[in-house]
Amino acid sequence: MNRRDLLKTAMSIPVLSGTTNATALAASKYGEHSRFKPRVRPSDPAWPSKAKWDNLKQNVGGTLIRVQPLFAACATDRKGVECVEALANARNPFYLGDQPAGTQVSGWLDAWAPAASMYAVAARNAADVSEAVNFARENRLRIVVKGGGHSYQGTSNAPDSLLVWTRAMNAVAVHDAFVGKGCEGRQAPTPAVTVGAGAMWIDVYDAVTTNAGRYVQGGGCTTVGVAGLVQSGGFGSMSKGFGTAAAGLLEAEIVTADGAVRTVNACMNPDLFWALKGGGGGSWGIVTRLTLRTHELPEFFGYAGGTIKAKSDAAFQQLIARFVAFYRDRLFNPHWGESVKIKPENALDLSMVCQGLDNRQAADVWQPFFDWVKSSSDHAASDLEAGSGHARAWWDVQARKKRGSDAMISDPRPGAPAFHAWWSGDKDQVSAFLHGYESLWLPSSLLQQAEQERLAGALFAASRHWEVELHFNKGLAGASAATAAAVRDTATNPEALDAFTLAIIANGGPPPLPGQPFDANAARRNARAVDEAAAELRNIVPNPGSYVSESNYFNASWQRAFWGDNYRRLRTVKAKYDPDGLFFVHHGVGSEEWSSDGFTRIA
Ligand SMILES: Cc1cc2nc3c(=O)[nH]c(=O)nc-3n(C[C@H](O)[C@H](O)[C@H](O)COP(=O)(O)OP(=O)(O)OC[C@H]3O[C@@H](n4cnc5c(N)ncnc54)[C@H](O)[C@@H]3O)c2cc1C
Repeated sequence: MNRRDLLKTAMSIPVLSGTTNATALAASKYGEHSRFKPRVRPSDPAWPSKAKWDNLKQNVGGTLIRVQPLFAACATDRKGVECVEALANARNPFYLGDQPAGTQVSGWLDAWAPAASMYAVAARNAADVSEAVNFARENRLRIVVKGGGHSYQGTSNAPDSLLVWTRAMNAVAVHDAFVGKGCEGRQAPTPAVTVGAGAMWIDVYDAVTTNAGRYVQGGGCTTVGVAGLVQSGGFGSMSKGFGTAAAGLLEAEIVTADGAVRTVNACMNPDLFWALKGGGGGSWGIVTRLTLRTHELPEFFGYAGGTIKAKSDAAFQQLIARFVAFYRDRLFNPHWGESVKIKPENALDLSMVCQGLDNRQAADVWQPFFDWVKSSSDHAASDLEAGSGHARAWWDVQARKKRGSDAMISDPRPGAPAFHAWWSGDKDQVSAFLHGYESLWLPSSLLQQAEQERLAGALFAASRHWEVELHFNKGLAGASAATAAAVRDTATNPEALDAFTLAIIANGGPPPLPGQPFDANAARRNARAVDEAAAELRNIVPNPGSYVSESNYFNASWQRAFWGDNYRRLRTVKAKYDPDGLFFVHHGVGSEEWSSDGFTRIA
C-alpha cells in the first residue's frame, strides 16, 4: 500500500485511541451536546470566564490559586530567592508536598512529565471540594486530585486542569470506640483514627503510635498521602501482620461526581466503600476524610540488615537458593516484612523488619543464616545484624535522634514539626525521574521445596539485567487467616493474598533540574534492562498480577494485573457513581473509555 492509500484508509477508520484522533472524532461525529464532546482547555472559547473563576474563588473562601510550575521562578531568574529556595528543597518531600505543583516523582521517561494545573482549590473541607467538583462538572473541566503527590504514574497532575489539593485537610483524631454512621447497633465499637484526606502517614503514626501507643496500618514511606495509599490498597512494613491499609478502612467521606458529600462504610453506600478499598485513587470522587481501625501496638518492632557478597556467579546462585529456603523456613509468617535486593554485582542486601519479636527472638531467627554466611569462604558479609526495640519509639523522631540514629531525616525548614522526617533509606526516591519500573506478584507455590530451585534460578537470571527487590510485606501469603479475610473483602487483586512477595524492578535518576544534563540514551537502556529482568521472572510466572500504585506505566493488561476478577465489579460501581467519567486517571477504572490525556471520551 502506498502512502496516499494508507492516508485514505486511515481517514476512513475512526481510530479509538490517541488524543488528536479522538478529539477529531468527537468533534466531527458527535456534535455539540454529545457526551463525547471533549473537555475544555484554556484555549477554548468555552473556558470559564474570569467572572466565573472569581465566583468560584468566593465560594471556596478565597482558596482558589493560579498554579505555576515548580521551577517557574528559575526560568526568569536563576539566582532569585524563589528559584534558589525551590532548588535547595528539590529533594525535600515535605517541601514538595507543600507546593501546589509539587510532585514527589519528577516524571517518567516517555510516559509523563509534571504539568501544573491552571488553577487549584486548596480545599479546607468537604464544602470546598463540592464547590470545585460542581464547577468542573458544569464547565466540562479536567479535574485532578492531589494529596501527598506520590503517584508514580503521574495521576495527580495534568495540564489544563483544575486541581483539588487536599494538603490543608490534615487533622488527625484518635478514638477509643468508633461506630460508623448508620452502623449503630450493627457494629461493635472499634478503636480507630479519623484522618483528613491530605494528611501524610507520619502525621498519623505520630498521633496513633508515638502519642497514643496504638498501631494503624499505613504505608512505609512517611510522606505518602493517606487517601492515595488507602485507595491503592496500601502496604506497610508490617502488612503481613496487619493486612493492607485498605483492609483497615472503617469509613470515608467522599464528594462524588454529582457534588454530593457521602459517607461510605459497611452500612452506607457499601459498594462505593468496597471500591475505595484498593480500587485506585482518583477514580471514584474526592475523599475528604477517612477512619481507620487501630490495633494493639506490639511491644517490639525489629530489624535485620546487612550485605552479603558472593565471590562468583556460582556462589551467588548458591546464596540466593540458601536465602529462599531460609525465608520459607523462618521468615514466611506474620512477623516479617520489608525487602531484600538481589544485585547484578552478586550482592544480597538485607533490609527486613519484624513485629512482635523481642531482641533475642529476632536475633535467634537469623542466627542459622548468619552462621552459614560467616562460615562460607565463598561469601563476604558486612554489617549483619538483627534485633528489636520498643515499638512505640519506631516513628519517634526525637527519641531516634537522641540515640544517635541517622535512620530518619528531618524536614530542615524552620518551623517544621519535630516529627516530620523521612526514612534515609527512601532518600534516593525523593523526586526521582523514572526510567523503567515493573512489579510482579510471585505466588507462594514457588516456595515449595520442589519449586525453590526454579525460583532461585529466575531471580539470578533477572539480576543479570537489573537489581531485583523482593518486598515480602507486599505479598500477603503467610498472613493470618483473619488478616487474609479482611484483605479479601477489598478491591485489591486477590492474587496479592496468594503471593509471598511483590518483586519490584525499577531504575531512574535524579530529578532533571533546570540546567542539569540528561542522557536519554542511557535512560532508555536502563528501561530496557528492567523489561529484560522482568522477562526472566515472567518465565516462571507468565501472567503476574501487579500492584496498582507500584507498577509499569506501560502495562497493557492493567485491568487484570491490578484487579484480577474484581475489575468487573469495579466497573459497575464506577458506572453508578461516576457515569460521565468526571474522574479520570491513567489506567484507572473506566479509563479505557477516554483518550490518554483524559480530555476526550472515546467509547
Ligand atoms: C517514594 C514513594 C514511596 C512509596 N511507598 C509506598 C509504600 O510504602 N507502600 C505502598 O503501598 N505504596 C507506596 N507508594 C505508592 C503510593 O502508595 C501511591 O502512589 C499512593 O497513591 C500515593 O498517594 P499520595 O496521596 O501520596 O499521592 P497522590 O499523587 O497525591 O495521589 C495518588 C492517587 O490518588 C489520588 N488521590 C489522592 N488523594 C485523593 C483523594 N483525597 N481522593 C481521591 N483520590 C485521591 C490521586 O488523584 C492519584 O490518582 C510509594 C510511592 C512513592 C513515590
